[in-house]
Amino acid sequence: MSKYIVVTGGVVSSIGKGITAASIGRILRSYGVDVTAIKIDPYLNWDSGTLNPYQHGEVFVTEDGMETDLDLGHYERFLNVNLSGESNITTGKVYSSVINKERKGDYLGSCVQIIPHITDEIKSMIREISNKTQAEVVLVEVGGTVGDIESQPFLEALRQLRNEEGHDNVMFVHVTYVPYLRAAGEFKTKPTQHSTKELRSTGINPDMIICRSELPIDSHLKDKIAHFCDVERKAVINAPDVHSIYEVPIILNRENMGDYILNRLKMEAHKPDLYEWSQIVESLKLDGTRVKIGIIGKYVELEDAYISIREALKHAAAELGAKVDIEWIRAEDTLNMEKIRKFNALLIPGGFGERGITGKLDAVRYSIEEEIPLFGICLGMQCMVIEYARLHGWEDANSTEFESNAKHPVIDIMLEQENIENMGGTMRLGAYPCKIKEDTIAYEAYKEDLVNERHRHRFEFNNEYRKSLEDEGLVISGVSPDNVLVEMVEIKDHPWFLGCQFHPEFKSRPNNAHPIFVSFVKAAIDNKRKLV
Ligand code: GLN
Repeated sequence: MSKYIVVTGGVVSSIGKGITAASIGRILRSYGVDVTAIKIDPYLNWDSGTLNPYQHGEVFVTEDGMETDLDLGHYERFLNVNLSGESNITTGKVYSSVINKERKGDYLGSCVQIIPHITDEIKSMIREISNKTQAEVVLVEVGGTVGDIESQPFLEALRQLRNEEGHDNVMFVHVTYVPYLRAAGEFKTKPTQHSTKELRSTGINPDMIICRSELPIDSHLKDKIAHFCDVERKAVINAPDVHSIYEVPIILNRENMGDYILNRLKMEAHKPDLYEWSQIVESLKLDGTRVKIGIIGKYVELEDAYISIREALKHAAAELGAKVDIEWIRAEDTLNMEKIRKFNALLIPGGFGERGITGKLDAVRYSIEEEIPLFGICLGMQCMVIEYARLHGWEDANSTEFESNAKHPVIDIMLEQENIENMGGTMRLGAYPCKIKEDTIAYEAYKEDLVNERHRHRFEFNNEYRKSLEDEGLVISGVSPDNVLVEMVEIKDHPWFLGCQFHPEFKSRPNNAHPIFVSFVKAAIDNKRKLV
Protein backbone atom coordinates (compact mmCIF):
# COMPACT_ATOMS: atom_id res chain seq x y z
CA MET A 1 0.00 0.00 0.00
CA SER A 2 1.37 3.40 -0.99
CA LYS A 3 1.61 6.50 1.14
CA TYR A 4 0.59 9.78 -0.51
CA ILE A 5 2.15 13.23 -0.42
CA VAL A 6 -0.13 15.87 -1.89
CA VAL A 7 1.50 19.10 -3.05
CA THR A 8 -0.73 22.15 -3.45
CA GLY A 9 0.20 25.69 -4.39
CA GLY A 10 -0.82 29.06 -3.07
CA VAL A 11 -0.44 32.81 -3.63
CA VAL A 12 0.77 32.80 -7.25
CA SER A 13 1.52 30.33 -10.00
CA SER A 14 4.95 29.83 -11.62
CA ILE A 15 6.78 29.49 -8.30
CA GLY A 16 8.25 26.15 -9.23
CA LYS A 17 5.74 23.84 -7.58
CA GLY A 18 6.64 21.08 -10.02
CA ILE A 19 10.35 21.38 -9.24
CA THR A 20 9.54 21.43 -5.53
CA ALA A 21 7.42 18.29 -5.82
CA ALA A 22 10.11 16.59 -7.92
CA SER A 23 12.69 17.60 -5.31
CA ILE A 24 10.65 16.05 -2.50
CA GLY A 25 10.66 12.88 -4.60
CA ARG A 26 14.42 13.08 -5.10
CA ILE A 27 14.98 13.56 -1.37
CA LEU A 28 12.87 10.51 -0.52
CA ARG A 29 14.75 8.54 -3.17
CA SER A 30 17.96 9.43 -1.40
CA TYR A 31 16.53 7.69 1.71
CA GLY A 32 15.98 4.57 -0.38
CA VAL A 33 12.23 5.14 -0.74
CA ASP A 34 10.60 4.10 -4.00
CA VAL A 35 8.65 7.11 -5.32
CA THR A 36 6.38 7.80 -8.25
CA ALA A 37 4.60 11.01 -9.18
CA ILE A 38 1.25 12.20 -10.49
CA LYS A 39 0.45 15.62 -11.92
CA ILE A 40 -3.13 16.81 -11.73
CA ASP A 41 -4.03 19.48 -14.27
CA PRO A 42 -7.46 20.87 -13.51
CA TYR A 43 -8.06 22.17 -17.05
CA LEU A 44 -10.70 20.66 -19.32
CA ASN A 45 -8.34 19.57 -22.09
CA TRP A 46 -8.02 15.80 -22.12
CA ASP A 47 -4.23 16.14 -22.37
CA SER A 48 -1.65 18.84 -23.14
CA GLY A 49 -1.36 17.80 -26.78
CA THR A 50 -3.65 20.48 -28.15
CA LEU A 51 -2.33 23.27 -25.91
CA ASN A 52 -0.36 26.08 -27.44
CA PRO A 53 3.21 26.02 -26.05
CA TYR A 54 2.86 29.74 -25.34
CA GLN A 55 0.11 28.99 -22.86
CA HIS A 56 1.47 25.97 -21.17
CA GLY A 57 5.05 25.43 -22.21
CA GLU A 58 6.40 22.23 -23.69
CA VAL A 59 4.28 19.16 -24.29
CA PHE A 60 6.19 16.32 -22.67
CA VAL A 61 5.84 12.95 -24.41
CA THR A 62 6.03 9.79 -22.32
CA GLU A 63 7.36 6.38 -23.42
CA ASP A 64 3.79 5.12 -23.75
CA GLY A 65 2.97 7.96 -26.12
CA MET A 66 0.92 10.39 -24.07
CA GLU A 67 1.20 14.12 -24.48
CA THR A 68 1.55 15.45 -20.96
CA ASP A 69 2.36 18.44 -18.82
CA LEU A 70 5.98 19.53 -18.67
CA ASP A 71 6.12 18.72 -14.94
CA LEU A 72 6.28 15.05 -15.89
CA GLY A 73 9.60 15.93 -17.49
CA HIS A 74 10.85 17.30 -14.17
CA TYR A 75 9.72 14.14 -12.39
CA GLU A 76 11.42 11.88 -14.93
CA ARG A 77 14.64 13.88 -14.68
CA PHE A 78 14.67 14.21 -10.89
CA LEU A 79 13.49 10.68 -10.12
CA ASN A 80 15.27 9.02 -13.04
CA VAL A 81 12.19 6.99 -13.97
CA ASN A 82 9.94 6.63 -17.01
CA LEU A 83 6.39 7.58 -16.11
CA SER A 84 3.23 6.47 -17.83
CA GLY A 85 0.99 9.10 -19.39
CA GLU A 86 -1.63 8.00 -16.87
CA SER A 87 0.39 9.94 -14.32
CA ASN A 88 -1.07 13.11 -15.77
CA ILE A 89 -4.70 13.40 -14.63
CA THR A 90 -6.83 16.19 -16.11
CA THR A 91 -10.42 17.30 -15.58
CA GLY A 92 -10.95 16.26 -19.20
CA LYS A 93 -9.87 12.66 -18.50
CA VAL A 94 -11.91 12.42 -15.30
CA TYR A 95 -15.13 13.77 -16.77
CA SER A 96 -14.90 11.80 -20.02
CA SER A 97 -14.40 8.60 -18.08
CA VAL A 98 -17.41 9.35 -15.85
CA ILE A 99 -19.59 10.33 -18.82
CA ASN A 100 -18.61 7.14 -20.67
CA LYS A 101 -19.59 5.07 -17.65
CA GLU A 102 -22.90 6.93 -17.37
CA ARG A 103 -23.67 6.25 -21.06
CA LYS A 104 -22.95 2.57 -20.52
CA GLY A 105 -25.40 2.55 -17.62
CA ASP A 106 -22.74 1.73 -15.05
CA TYR A 107 -24.30 4.01 -12.44
CA LEU A 108 -27.53 1.97 -12.40
CA GLY A 109 -29.94 4.87 -12.52
CA SER A 110 -28.34 7.12 -9.96
CA CYS A 111 -28.03 10.83 -10.49
CA VAL A 112 -24.38 11.31 -11.48
CA GLN A 113 -22.77 14.09 -9.44
CA ILE A 114 -19.44 15.74 -8.72
CA ILE A 115 -19.55 14.20 -5.26
CA PRO A 116 -19.31 11.20 -5.16
CA HIS A 117 -18.90 10.21 -8.83
CA ILE A 118 -16.26 12.67 -10.01
CA THR A 119 -14.36 12.52 -6.73
CA ASP A 120 -14.49 8.70 -6.73
CA GLU A 121 -13.13 8.67 -10.27
CA ILE A 122 -10.24 10.94 -9.25
CA LYS A 123 -9.38 8.71 -6.30
CA SER A 124 -9.57 5.58 -8.41
CA MET A 125 -7.23 7.09 -11.04
CA ILE A 126 -4.76 7.97 -8.30
CA ARG A 127 -5.00 4.53 -6.68
CA GLU A 128 -4.56 2.87 -10.05
CA ILE A 129 -1.11 4.43 -10.33
CA SER A 130 -0.31 3.22 -6.84
CA ASN A 131 -1.42 -0.32 -7.78
CA LYS A 132 0.44 -0.39 -11.06
CA THR A 133 3.71 1.05 -9.80
CA GLN A 134 3.60 -0.44 -6.28
CA ALA A 135 5.54 2.66 -5.25
CA GLU A 136 6.03 3.23 -1.54
CA VAL A 137 5.20 6.90 -1.95
CA VAL A 138 2.99 8.52 -4.57
CA LEU A 139 3.53 12.25 -4.96
CA VAL A 140 0.42 14.05 -6.17
CA GLU A 141 0.95 17.60 -7.40
CA VAL A 142 -2.21 19.64 -7.88
CA GLY A 143 -1.75 22.19 -10.67
CA GLY A 144 -3.00 25.75 -10.33
CA THR A 145 -3.43 27.63 -7.08
CA VAL A 146 -5.71 26.83 -4.19
CA GLY A 147 -8.95 28.76 -4.60
CA ASP A 148 -9.30 28.10 -8.35
CA ILE A 149 -12.82 26.86 -9.07
CA GLU A 150 -11.60 24.06 -11.32
CA SER A 151 -9.33 22.50 -8.71
CA GLN A 152 -12.07 22.11 -6.08
CA PRO A 153 -13.22 18.58 -6.99
CA PHE A 154 -9.59 17.43 -6.88
CA LEU A 155 -8.99 18.94 -3.44
CA GLU A 156 -12.21 17.39 -2.20
CA ALA A 157 -11.15 13.99 -3.57
CA LEU A 158 -7.75 14.30 -1.89
CA ARG A 159 -9.37 15.29 1.40
CA GLN A 160 -11.48 12.13 1.16
CA LEU A 161 -8.38 10.12 0.27
CA ARG A 162 -6.77 11.18 3.54
CA ASN A 163 -9.74 9.92 5.55
CA GLU A 164 -9.94 6.68 3.63
CA GLU A 165 -6.22 5.90 3.65
CA GLY A 166 -5.67 7.17 7.18
CA HIS A 167 -3.87 10.15 8.65
CA ASP A 168 -0.50 8.36 8.76
CA ASN A 169 -0.65 7.55 5.08
CA VAL A 170 -1.44 10.91 3.50
CA MET A 171 0.26 14.24 4.07
CA PHE A 172 -0.28 17.67 2.57
CA VAL A 173 2.49 20.04 1.56
CA HIS A 174 1.51 23.59 0.64
CA VAL A 175 3.94 25.59 -1.50
CA THR A 176 3.52 29.36 -1.16
CA TYR A 177 5.32 32.54 -2.04
CA VAL A 178 6.70 35.01 0.49
CA PRO A 179 7.21 38.31 -1.30
CA TYR A 180 9.84 40.85 -0.32
CA LEU A 181 8.62 44.42 -0.35
CA ARG A 182 11.56 46.55 -1.24
CA ALA A 183 9.91 49.81 -0.21
CA ALA A 184 9.13 48.44 3.25
CA GLY A 185 12.38 46.50 3.39
CA GLU A 186 10.67 43.33 4.63
CA PHE A 187 9.18 39.98 3.70
CA LYS A 188 5.42 39.60 3.93
CA THR A 189 3.75 36.47 5.26
CA LYS A 190 0.15 37.59 4.82
CA PRO A 191 -0.34 36.00 1.36
CA THR A 192 0.87 32.68 2.81
CA GLN A 193 -1.53 33.02 5.73
CA HIS A 194 -4.41 33.75 3.36
CA SER A 195 -3.72 30.90 0.98
CA THR A 196 -3.38 28.48 3.91
CA LYS A 197 -6.74 29.70 5.16
CA GLU A 198 -8.17 29.12 1.69
CA LEU A 199 -6.76 25.57 1.68
CA ARG A 200 -8.16 24.96 5.13
CA SER A 201 -11.62 26.01 3.92
CA THR A 202 -11.57 22.90 1.72
CA GLY A 203 -11.06 20.77 4.81
CA ILE A 204 -7.33 20.24 4.24
CA ASN A 205 -4.84 21.23 6.90
CA PRO A 206 -1.34 21.42 5.51
CA ASP A 207 1.30 19.39 7.36
CA MET A 208 4.17 21.33 5.83
CA ILE A 209 4.57 24.74 4.24
CA ILE A 210 7.32 25.38 1.73
CA CYS A 211 7.95 29.09 1.35
CA ARG A 212 9.38 30.10 -1.96
CA SER A 213 11.12 33.46 -1.79
CA GLU A 214 13.55 35.52 -3.77
CA LEU A 215 16.07 35.59 -0.91
CA PRO A 216 16.43 33.39 2.19
CA ILE A 217 13.92 34.25 4.92
CA ASP A 218 14.93 34.36 8.59
CA SER A 219 13.95 32.19 11.49
CA HIS A 220 11.62 34.75 13.02
CA LEU A 221 9.53 34.76 9.86
CA LYS A 222 9.29 30.98 9.93
CA ASP A 223 8.10 31.15 13.55
CA LYS A 224 5.40 33.54 12.44
CA ILE A 225 4.26 31.31 9.56
CA ALA A 226 4.24 28.23 11.82
CA HIS A 227 2.15 30.12 14.34
CA PHE A 228 -0.39 31.68 12.00
CA CYS A 229 -0.70 28.72 9.66
CA ASP A 230 -0.79 26.14 12.43
CA VAL A 231 1.99 23.88 11.24
CA GLU A 232 4.94 22.61 13.26
CA ARG A 233 7.91 24.95 13.23
CA LYS A 234 10.14 22.17 11.79
CA ALA A 235 7.68 21.86 8.92
CA VAL A 236 8.12 25.42 7.67
CA ILE A 237 10.75 25.09 5.00
CA ASN A 238 12.27 27.86 2.96
CA ALA A 239 13.16 27.46 -0.70
CA PRO A 240 14.85 30.66 -1.87
CA ASP A 241 15.72 31.18 -5.55
CA VAL A 242 18.75 29.18 -6.66
CA HIS A 243 20.89 29.23 -9.79
CA SER A 244 20.11 25.71 -10.84
CA ILE A 245 16.87 23.81 -10.34
CA TYR A 246 18.94 20.73 -9.50
CA GLU A 247 20.09 22.42 -6.28
CA VAL A 248 16.56 22.46 -4.85
CA PRO A 249 16.62 18.96 -3.26
CA ILE A 250 19.84 19.85 -1.48
CA ILE A 251 18.53 23.19 -0.21
CA LEU A 252 15.28 21.62 1.00
CA ASN A 253 16.97 18.77 2.78
CA ARG A 254 19.29 21.12 4.60
CA GLU A 255 16.21 21.80 6.68
CA ASN A 256 15.74 18.06 7.28
CA MET A 257 12.66 17.85 5.16
CA GLY A 258 13.14 14.14 4.45
CA ASP A 259 13.31 13.22 8.15
CA TYR A 260 10.18 15.20 8.86
CA ILE A 261 8.20 13.57 6.04
CA LEU A 262 9.29 10.04 6.91
CA ASN A 263 8.40 10.61 10.54
CA ARG A 264 5.05 12.07 9.66
CA LEU A 265 4.27 9.11 7.39
CA LYS A 266 5.66 6.65 9.93
CA MET A 267 8.11 5.20 7.48
CA GLU A 268 11.38 3.45 8.17
CA ALA A 269 14.22 4.44 5.90
CA HIS A 270 17.98 4.41 5.46
CA LYS A 271 20.12 7.44 6.10
CA PRO A 272 19.80 9.91 3.24
CA ASP A 273 22.46 9.80 0.57
CA LEU A 274 22.39 12.84 -1.64
CA TYR A 275 26.06 12.41 -2.56
CA GLU A 276 25.42 11.36 -6.16
CA TRP A 277 22.95 14.19 -6.57
CA SER A 278 25.40 16.78 -5.18
CA GLN A 279 27.97 15.48 -7.64
CA ILE A 280 25.46 16.18 -10.41
CA VAL A 281 24.86 19.69 -9.07
CA GLU A 282 28.61 20.31 -8.91
CA SER A 283 29.18 19.07 -12.45
CA LEU A 284 26.42 21.38 -13.68
CA LYS A 285 28.23 24.28 -12.05
CA LEU A 286 31.55 23.55 -13.76
CA ASP A 287 32.59 26.48 -15.80
CA GLY A 288 34.83 24.93 -18.43
CA THR A 289 34.68 25.76 -22.11
CA ARG A 290 31.70 27.97 -22.84
CA VAL A 291 29.92 27.38 -26.11
CA LYS A 292 27.25 29.51 -27.68
CA ILE A 293 24.35 27.63 -29.19
CA GLY A 294 21.63 29.36 -31.20
CA ILE A 295 18.17 27.78 -31.04
CA ILE A 296 15.99 28.84 -33.94
CA GLY A 297 12.39 28.34 -32.90
CA LYS A 298 8.91 29.64 -33.07
CA TYR A 299 8.06 29.88 -29.37
CA VAL A 300 11.33 31.36 -28.13
CA GLU A 301 9.66 34.09 -26.07
CA LEU A 302 8.66 31.39 -23.60
CA GLU A 303 11.69 29.32 -22.70
CA ASP A 304 9.45 26.70 -21.09
CA ALA A 305 8.34 25.78 -24.60
CA TYR A 306 11.72 24.08 -25.10
CA ILE A 307 12.47 23.10 -21.52
CA SER A 308 13.62 19.52 -22.18
CA ILE A 309 16.00 20.70 -24.90
CA ARG A 310 17.48 23.31 -22.57
CA GLU A 311 17.94 20.72 -19.83
CA ALA A 312 19.39 18.12 -22.23
CA LEU A 313 21.99 20.67 -23.38
CA LYS A 314 22.90 21.37 -19.75
CA HIS A 315 23.25 17.65 -18.98
CA ALA A 316 25.46 17.11 -22.01
CA ALA A 317 27.64 20.12 -21.22
CA ALA A 318 28.06 18.95 -17.62
CA GLU A 319 29.24 15.56 -18.85
CA LEU A 320 31.86 17.29 -20.98
CA GLY A 321 32.89 19.77 -18.29
CA ALA A 322 31.59 22.61 -20.46
CA LYS A 323 28.90 25.23 -20.26
CA VAL A 324 26.29 26.06 -22.89
CA ASP A 325 25.08 29.62 -23.41
CA ILE A 326 21.81 29.42 -25.27
CA GLU A 327 20.63 32.25 -27.44
CA TRP A 328 17.02 32.05 -28.55
CA ILE A 329 16.45 33.18 -32.12
CA ARG A 330 12.96 33.97 -33.36
CA ALA A 331 12.57 31.97 -36.56
CA GLU A 332 10.70 34.85 -38.24
CA ASP A 333 13.58 37.28 -37.73
CA THR A 334 15.85 37.52 -40.69
CA LEU A 335 19.00 35.62 -40.13
CA ASN A 336 22.21 36.57 -41.81
CA MET A 337 25.68 35.16 -41.99
CA GLU A 338 26.92 37.80 -39.55
CA LYS A 339 24.40 36.73 -36.91
CA ILE A 340 24.99 33.04 -37.51
CA ARG A 341 28.76 33.21 -37.31
CA LYS A 342 28.80 34.06 -33.61
CA PHE A 343 27.35 30.67 -32.77
CA ASN A 344 29.44 27.57 -32.18
CA ALA A 345 26.45 25.45 -33.12
CA LEU A 346 22.79 25.72 -34.09
CA LEU A 347 19.71 23.76 -33.14
CA ILE A 348 16.30 23.68 -34.80
CA PRO A 349 13.68 22.21 -32.47
CA GLY A 350 10.32 20.62 -33.27
CA GLY A 351 7.27 22.63 -34.21
CA PHE A 352 4.07 22.82 -36.18
CA GLY A 353 2.88 25.04 -39.00
CA GLU A 354 4.51 27.26 -41.52
CA ARG A 355 5.34 30.32 -39.43
CA GLY A 356 9.09 30.81 -39.21
CA ILE A 357 9.96 28.09 -41.71
CA THR A 358 11.98 30.40 -43.98
CA GLY A 359 14.26 31.33 -41.09
CA LYS A 360 14.79 27.67 -40.25
CA LEU A 361 15.59 26.78 -43.86
CA ASP A 362 18.06 29.70 -44.01
CA ALA A 363 19.73 28.34 -40.88
CA VAL A 364 20.15 24.95 -42.56
CA ARG A 365 21.77 26.59 -45.58
CA TYR A 366 24.14 28.66 -43.44
CA SER A 367 25.08 25.60 -41.45
CA ILE A 368 26.00 23.76 -44.65
CA GLU A 369 27.86 26.68 -46.21
CA GLU A 370 29.70 27.71 -43.05
CA GLU A 371 30.21 24.20 -41.68
CA ILE A 372 28.49 25.12 -38.40
CA PRO A 373 27.25 22.08 -36.44
CA LEU A 374 23.47 21.78 -36.76
CA PHE A 375 21.10 19.59 -34.81
CA GLY A 376 17.56 19.27 -36.21
CA ILE A 377 14.85 17.73 -34.06
CA CYS A 378 11.61 16.52 -35.67
CA LEU A 379 10.48 19.59 -37.66
CA GLY A 380 14.18 20.55 -37.52
CA MET A 381 15.10 17.34 -39.35
CA GLN A 382 12.31 17.92 -41.86
CA CYS A 383 13.73 21.41 -42.57
CA MET A 384 17.18 19.88 -43.11
CA VAL A 385 15.76 17.49 -45.68
CA ILE A 386 13.79 20.21 -47.48
CA GLU A 387 16.73 22.61 -47.71
CA TYR A 388 19.17 19.86 -48.70
CA ALA A 389 16.83 18.86 -51.51
CA ARG A 390 16.44 22.50 -52.62
CA LEU A 391 20.23 22.87 -52.75
CA HIS A 392 20.55 19.69 -54.82
CA GLY A 393 18.24 20.31 -57.73
CA TRP A 394 14.73 20.08 -56.27
CA GLU A 395 14.15 23.84 -55.95
CA ASP A 396 10.46 23.38 -55.18
CA ALA A 397 11.02 20.80 -52.46
CA ASN A 398 8.71 21.28 -49.49
CA SER A 399 6.66 19.53 -46.84
CA THR A 400 2.98 18.98 -47.54
CA GLU A 401 2.42 20.46 -44.07
CA PHE A 402 3.21 23.87 -45.60
CA GLU A 403 2.20 23.33 -49.22
CA SER A 404 -0.38 20.61 -49.71
CA ASN A 405 0.30 20.17 -53.42
CA ALA A 406 4.06 20.71 -53.32
CA LYS A 407 5.80 19.76 -56.54
CA HIS A 408 8.49 17.86 -54.65
CA PRO A 409 6.98 16.73 -51.34
CA VAL A 410 10.19 15.45 -49.75
CA ILE A 411 8.33 15.48 -46.44
CA ASP A 412 4.81 14.11 -46.63
CA ILE A 413 1.91 13.16 -44.39
CA MET A 414 2.22 9.62 -43.03
CA LEU A 415 -0.17 7.14 -44.58
CA GLU A 416 -1.95 6.39 -41.32
CA GLN A 417 -2.34 10.12 -40.67
CA GLU A 418 -4.14 10.91 -43.92
CA ASN A 419 -7.74 10.49 -42.84
CA ILE A 420 -7.41 11.63 -39.28
CA GLU A 421 -10.13 14.02 -38.14
CA ASN A 422 -9.42 14.45 -34.43
CA MET A 423 -6.33 16.45 -33.59
CA GLY A 424 -5.81 15.25 -30.01
CA GLY A 425 -3.64 12.19 -29.36
CA THR A 426 -3.60 11.05 -32.98
CA MET A 427 -0.01 11.70 -34.02
CA ARG A 428 2.68 9.05 -34.18
CA LEU A 429 3.39 9.18 -30.47
CA GLY A 430 5.73 7.60 -27.96
CA ALA A 431 8.74 5.30 -28.08
CA TYR A 432 9.63 3.41 -31.25
CA PRO A 433 12.77 1.44 -32.07
CA CYS A 434 15.30 2.86 -34.51
CA LYS A 435 18.07 0.95 -36.27
CA ILE A 436 21.36 2.85 -36.43
CA LYS A 437 23.70 2.63 -39.39
CA GLU A 438 27.38 2.05 -38.67
CA ASP A 439 30.04 4.66 -39.48
CA THR A 440 27.75 7.57 -38.83
CA ILE A 441 27.68 10.34 -36.21
CA ALA A 442 24.63 8.63 -34.76
CA TYR A 443 26.43 5.31 -34.36
CA GLU A 444 29.50 6.95 -32.92
CA ALA A 445 27.30 8.63 -30.33
CA TYR A 446 24.97 5.78 -29.39
CA LYS A 447 27.46 2.94 -29.86
CA GLU A 448 24.40 0.75 -30.33
CA ASP A 449 22.59 -0.81 -33.31
CA LEU A 450 19.11 -0.37 -31.94
CA VAL A 451 17.77 2.50 -29.83
CA ASN A 452 14.34 3.55 -28.61
CA GLU A 453 13.24 7.15 -28.92
CA ARG A 454 10.04 9.13 -28.42
CA HIS A 455 8.07 10.56 -31.31
CA ARG A 456 5.40 13.20 -31.88
CA HIS A 457 4.70 13.93 -35.53
CA ARG A 458 2.34 13.46 -38.48
CA PHE A 459 4.73 14.00 -41.36
CA GLU A 460 7.73 11.96 -42.43
CA PHE A 461 10.55 11.66 -44.92
CA ASN A 462 9.04 10.73 -48.29
CA ASN A 463 10.66 7.46 -49.43
CA GLU A 464 10.17 8.40 -53.10
CA TYR A 465 13.12 10.76 -52.69
CA ARG A 466 15.24 8.46 -50.57
CA LYS A 467 17.43 6.96 -53.25
CA SER A 468 18.00 10.22 -55.14
CA LEU A 469 18.80 12.21 -52.01
CA GLU A 470 21.20 9.48 -50.87
CA ASP A 471 22.88 9.70 -54.25
CA GLU A 472 23.29 13.42 -53.58
CA GLY A 473 25.15 12.72 -50.33
CA LEU A 474 22.39 12.58 -47.74
CA VAL A 475 23.12 9.81 -45.25
CA ILE A 476 20.20 7.96 -43.74
CA SER A 477 21.72 7.02 -40.39
CA GLY A 478 18.61 5.76 -38.60
CA VAL A 479 15.55 3.86 -39.84
CA SER A 480 12.63 1.97 -38.35
CA PRO A 481 13.55 -1.74 -38.01
CA ASP A 482 11.40 -2.60 -41.07
CA ASN A 483 13.36 0.02 -43.02
CA VAL A 484 10.17 1.89 -43.92
CA LEU A 485 10.57 5.10 -41.95
CA VAL A 486 13.57 7.38 -42.11
CA GLU A 487 14.37 8.39 -38.53
CA MET A 488 17.77 10.08 -38.80
CA VAL A 489 19.68 11.96 -41.49
CA GLU A 490 23.21 13.29 -41.74
CA ILE A 491 25.44 14.63 -44.50
CA LYS A 492 28.95 13.71 -45.45
CA ASP A 493 31.74 16.26 -45.50
CA HIS A 494 30.31 18.34 -42.72
CA PRO A 495 31.67 18.53 -39.16
CA TRP A 496 28.30 17.73 -37.55
CA PHE A 497 24.94 17.80 -39.30
CA LEU A 498 22.32 15.51 -37.83
CA GLY A 499 18.56 15.46 -37.86
CA CYS A 500 16.25 13.06 -36.09
CA GLN A 501 12.54 12.56 -36.52
CA PHE A 502 12.19 11.77 -32.81
CA HIS A 503 12.74 13.86 -29.68
CA PRO A 504 15.86 12.68 -27.86
CA GLU A 505 15.54 15.56 -25.36
CA PHE A 506 12.78 13.71 -23.49
CA LYS A 507 15.17 10.95 -22.46
CA SER A 508 18.09 13.01 -21.22
CA ARG A 509 18.73 12.85 -17.49
CA PRO A 510 21.07 14.93 -15.32
CA ASN A 511 23.10 11.85 -14.41
CA ASN A 512 22.74 10.28 -17.81
CA ALA A 513 23.06 12.84 -20.60
CA HIS A 514 21.68 11.82 -23.98
CA PRO A 515 24.47 10.56 -26.29
CA ILE A 516 23.33 12.64 -29.28
CA PHE A 517 23.28 15.81 -27.19
CA VAL A 518 26.74 14.97 -25.85
CA SER A 519 28.02 14.45 -29.38
CA PHE A 520 26.42 17.74 -30.49
CA VAL A 521 27.86 19.83 -27.63
CA LYS A 522 31.23 18.23 -28.30
CA ALA A 523 30.95 19.35 -31.91
CA ALA A 524 30.18 22.88 -30.70
CA ILE A 525 33.33 22.78 -28.52
CA ASP A 526 35.42 21.52 -31.45
CA ASN A 527 34.02 24.26 -33.66
CA LYS A 528 34.89 26.90 -31.07
CA ARG A 529 38.47 25.59 -30.88
CA LYS A 530 38.70 25.71 -34.66
CA LEU A 531 37.67 29.36 -34.65
CA VAL A 532 40.23 30.44 -32.03
N1 GLN B 1 4.96 19.35 -37.73
C1 GLN B 1 5.79 18.22 -37.97
C2 GLN B 1 5.00 16.94 -38.06
O1 GLN B 1 3.89 16.86 -37.60
C3 GLN B 1 6.87 18.10 -36.93
C4 GLN B 1 6.35 17.81 -35.56
C5 GLN B 1 7.35 18.08 -34.46
O2 GLN B 1 8.34 18.78 -34.68
N2 GLN B 1 7.10 17.60 -33.26
O3 GLN B 1 5.48 15.98 -38.58
